[in-house]
Amino acid sequence: MWRLLRPDSATVWQDDEVVARLNWYYSVMTDRKPAKYLICKRVEVEFSGEEELEELWALHDKAANSFKELWTKVREGLKLEEVDAPSKSLLDLKVELVKRMLKSCMFCERRCSVDRSRGETGFCKLDSLSRVSTWFHHYGEEAPLVPSGTIFFTSCNFRCQFCQNWDISTDPLNGVEVTPRKLASIASTLRREGCRNINYVGGEPTPNLHVIVESLRYMEVNVPILWNSNMYCSLETMKILRELVDIWLPDFKYYSDECAERLSKVPRYFEVVSRNHLMAHESGDMIIRHLVLPNHLECCTKPLLEWIAKNLPRALVNIMAQYRPEHVVAREPHRFPEIARRPTLEEMKEAYATARRLGIIYEPVS
Ligand code: SF4
Repeated sequence: MWRLLRPDSATVWQDDEVVARLNWYYSVMTDRKPAKYLICKRVEVEFSGEEELEELWALHDKAANSFKELWTKVREGLKLEEVDAPSKSLLDLKVELVKRMLKSCMFCERRCSVDRSRGETGFCKLDSLSRVSTWFHHYGEEAPLVPSGTIFFTSCNFRCQFCQNWDISTDPLNGVEVTPRKLASIASTLRREGCRNINYVGGEPTPNLHVIVESLRYMEVNVPILWNSNMYCSLETMKILRELVDIWLPDFKYYSDECAERLSKVPRYFEVVSRNHLMAHESGDMIIRHLVLPNHLECCTKPLLEWIAKNLPRALVNIMAQYRPEHVVAREPHRFPEIARRPTLEEMKEAYATARRLGIIYEPVS
């Protein structure tokens, strides 16, 4: 059916550049290769759970190297069935690590250090429970991703004054509670129904890292894992995700920290988000989303596209034109006059022209 609703989701694969840049994702999507989380389950790690945190991270770093070796062999043709399943795996170690991280939460760079396992809450207002507001086959995502098995988590670690999903991003209780087993069941069903990937989004998926990672323990279905995030993850979270995510769908909104602080209430935006994009680019396929904000071409869009062209040459970029004033900006436009309108056609043309000049591939996914 999706070929009727979104014919570009089929024709996009006739583009050699897209196939080359999303090669790993395509292999998993078409069941030619196993998803990275399934490879993680075959990487042996010996640990008891009594170890100190530093010791667990040292074991994790070592196992991440073993993962790399196995992943290379799988890409070269090794079948995962030929590798014995260990009694404890890299995925089990990641589950243990995220449980520890939850006790002094450092999932994102806000590093609230609250013990969410005991009901404390930080900036995202979430305790240890995760809630999803909805999940469905998403036909509005980029062509290579459609239909996307999208799961919307509540709450967020940003406060974008123009948020288009503010009903779920600002209200952590706006959804149904999901345990790791329930989440695994939702994801497996979405794949069996024909979704090309499992798309963890929100709000923001990062505060729900512990439930997402543990859910993979209860899944066996082969499906690309997609991380659809504002990318304000901590370094530790990126290390957890690196061996699990098959395709990244990160937002890259701002080049200017002043704009990020004022419009999304986020400190150190560029330092954190650029670091995480670099790590993601090294570890998997990616489609970057850049939402063009009115009057932000010179401070954000143009220098950001320059940076992407220079530092993330394999990434596809979706230059998004759909900004509209929402949430606080719609209610109080006088506080944010420069973004209290949609981007003009001229602004969008300028953004596209900049991307073309820099050799950024954006048309197939826009
Ligand atoms: S996920 Fe981020 S915002 Fe939420 S408690 Fe943890 S560190 Fe704070």
